[in-house]
Amino acid sequence: METIPLKIKRDVLIVLIILCLPCQALSAFSDRTPHEIRISAHGGLERLVRLGTDIDRVSGLAVSAYLSPSEFKNLISMGYSVRPVPDREITAYKLYYGRKSKAATDLYYPLYSELSDRITQFATSYPALCRVESIGQSVEGREIWAVTVTGNPDTREPEPAVTLIATLHGNEPVGTVLLMELTEHLLENHGTDPRVTALVNHHEIRIVPLANPDGYASGDRYNAQGTDLNRNFPDPSPNSADYFDSIDGRAPETLALMAWIMDRPAAVSLNLHTGFLVVNYPYDFTLDTAPDDILFQHMSLAYAANCPDMAASVYANGIVRGAEWYVIEGGLQDWATLGKGELHVTVELSNEKYPAPQTLSALWNANRDALLAYMETSDTGIGGRILDRASGEPLSGWIHIEGNSHDVFSERQTGFFMRVLRPGTYTITAYAENHVSKSVRDLSVVQGETTICDFLLEKGSDPDHPGTKETNWPRIEAVADHSEPARSEEDSGCFIGCVL
Ligand SMILES: [Zn+2]
Repeated sequence: METIPLKIKRDVLIVLIILCLPCQALSAFSDRTPHEIRISAHGGLERLVRLGTDIDRVSGLAVSAYLSPSEFKNLISMGYSVRPVPDREITAYKLYYGRKSKAATDLYYPLYSELSDRITQFATSYPALCRVESIGQSVEGREIWAVTVTGNPDTREPEPAVTLIATLHGNEPVGTVLLMELTEHLLENHGTDPRVTALVNHHEIRIVPLANPDGYASGDRYNAQGTDLNRNFPDPSPNSADYFDSIDGRAPETLALMAWIMDRPAAVSLNLHTGFLVVNYPYDFTLDTAPDDILFQHMSLAYAANCPDMAASVYANGIVRGAEWYVIEGGLQDWATLGKGELHVTVELSNEKYPAPQTLSALWNANRDALLAYMETSDTGIGGRILDRASGEPLSGWIHIEGNSHDVFSERQTGFFMRVLRPGTYTITAYAENHVSKSVRDLSVVQGETTICDFLLEKGSDPDHPGTKETNWPRIEAVADHSEPARSEEDSGCFIGCVL
């Protein structure tokens, strides 16, 4: 038998490698690939953060991160122990994306086109409860869908908004499947299940099941520009010049989410990821505790305690303050919390980023009650409207709780606000531009109930607060200082009642 000379064999091999390289490059949105970095102590982690490393998870002294070839070389030259690890998610994507199992009722990772069809079908099938809109397009032109589930979906009502977002990282698609199931669960069980009925009737539930459609359709962490969307929001850290609504350097997907959230800030909100098991609460960018640190712990526990999978979390009770796990800058969680007065947490649903579709039903069953319980945390606190006393017109104002710098903002179309709080007694003040602020003292909050309190503000100048306020962003601290404001006080008609 004739043998092929070695030189020709080698040349053929080289040609094949060269032919294959562009194929690989075309399928990825970034030259960053998964690596594991060993650190010797927490100081090593801080240095990685300062270098802008795209850290994905930290487990003991092992840091999972996405590195470009130059970042890899740089870390090696700095003395880090770094090794590439297989991209398990791209392998899973090739196996599972769009593949239905034998039983038609089994959950699976739908093709983007199938997902779009099902989302639009929600609004068609449940016109009294559901609206679907595109909040923008991805880099590759896919629609970013938002589903609103509520009674009277065409009317802005004085009720708290709850926002749920999934799959900022395209290779973490479990959240998309869960939010699609949740939407269907809410729509199908409204009118028969009292818990679902109360949630839908008394809240505006806003769901973006797929925030990164290009990444999802390609099995890629990044958007099609190679941007990590959960590091792309305005960054409140001191080394950033970002203001809460600055648009420079933002991906189209980030801008779409920002505009949609700013249009209707939520009382409580979350975004879903995979790669770990934990509920992560603010802040991510600093070890400083948030003004609502205790409240965040209780909200996170409402999720974790109702999700049996979280028992396997390495963190006590399945919750962790973000920066104590690892610091990130430009995340959605801190932006929504500081930028627009939301209370936003990040849920890591499973250690496996892209688990086999056979596990999706179990994941849905494990997380269904947790999602409902988390949404219900929006009921405990003080809710009401800020209105002009003379005209009754709704006002774009803000609500301050004495001793707490996290203000919430009233909804411009209805004047409605919802300030989620722990049970206790509070002094609350309402502000609006060109109006005299007003305070109510010793208002009680009871677990599971909304204390209703409307504020009717007189027109006039408030010498301590002549302007308006629209954010808790740290770089307007001087404006946000409510230490000793002049205000009128009254015994208003506040009472503890059912949700508005
Ligand atoms: Zn993620």
